[in-house]
Amino acid sequence: MKTYNMAVVGFGGMGRRHTEMIKGVNGLELRGVYDILDRQNKLAQDLGIEVYGSLDEVLADRQLDIVLVATPNHVHKDIAIKALKAGKNVICEKPATVNSKDLEDIISAADSSGCLFAVHQNRRWDDDFLTIKKIYDEGIIGDIFHIETRVQGSRGIPRDWRREKAHGGGMMLDWGVHLIDRLLFMVNEPVKKVYCKLSFILGQEVDDGFRIFLTFGSGKTALVEAGTWNFENLPKWYVCGMKGTAVIEDWDMNGRVALLKDEGSHDASPVKSAAGYTKTMAPRTDGSVIYNPLPKVESDVRDFYRNVMDAIGGKCRACVQNSEVLRVMRLLEAAVESDRLGQTVDFE
Ligand code: NAD
Repeated sequence: MKTYNMAVVGFGGMGRRHTEMIKGVNGLELRGVYDILDRQNKLAQDLGIEVYGSLDEVLADRQLDIVLVATPNHVHKDIAIKALKAGKNVICEKPATVNSKDLEDIISAADSSGCLFAVHQNRRWDDDFLTIKKIYDEGIIGDIFHIETRVQGSRGIPRDWRREKAHGGGMMLDWGVHLIDRLLFMVNEPVKKVYCKLSFILGQEVDDGFRIFLTFGSGKTALVEAGTWNFENLPKWYVCGMKGTAVIEDWDMNGRVALLKDEGSHDASPVKSAAGYTKTMAPRTDGSVIYNPLPKVESDVRDFYRNVMDAIGGKCRACVQNSEVLRVMRLLEAAVESDRLGQTVDFE
């Protein structure tokens, strides 16, 4: 079995995580790291990790197969293209770039080099997403007509480069990339319409959240939302089908699948509010809906690295395709344009 040697460029939070994650991956070896800050290189040395003196030194290492880019977003392009031109395969953190044009440039550099460029869309391996994807793929709640996917925090944007436009900050380029990537990966349909409202409630120069409404080719709709000033949270997933509704409440995978058992049962006891009665909105109390546990799916996010090695070795295609990453980036740009215009824009 071939061993692939990897270097990590950018030894911050995510760079360090990669060095830990690959420990359990057979055939993948960490050769060293390089960070622009001495402080971070010293931290790596203290952990017993080899440190390169410069990016040029990384790229000149003939034993190196893969360069993993884990720097702030605005420098991904420069480092990735240099590495591809030096004949290295590249794993790049998301967002691959800060705009679609930069990503096109990387993809053409990868095509010319014959090396692999693979974007770390690791949240495709999250258990909440895989559970919803199973419900979707297996038709567990029938034809799905609406999907809501969201993340909500209450601490604002982290106090680092993520608050700065020049570094590719903001929630669209952060969580937007993950949420849209997963949705488009699951729903195999063109996106026809995009409407978006970015939020700037915390007064930063970049968006601190967003709500994006999508209409797919079949007419199904999606709401994709991120907030950073929410002290009560809505469900992470709320998915409506013709035969039921699936909900994942939180990061702990609390939730359930409500299934309509008896379509013929329309009778309801009215509920009363101050203004009067409603039967239409009365909850079901007649046993015509059953509640099942979520069909949870196990996963190993390190399959991402295994797939990268297999794709480099020509054994399979990369599981995160660059065409998918480019589509996500273009959709985010359409969303920003919708926000600017204050109206829905056509997409595909
Ligand atoms: P961070 O600020 O913790 O670390 C970034 C590191 O890159 C810093 O140590 C910085 O000194 C270094 N750096 C900056 N410019 C450099 C350069 N030109 N050459 C070498 N090193 C340089 O940021 P982070 O949270 O680790 O994020 C890094 C990347 O990982 C971002 O693209 C981010 O979006 C992504 N990320 C992905 C996930 C995920 O789940 N996939 C999670 C967190 C972050």
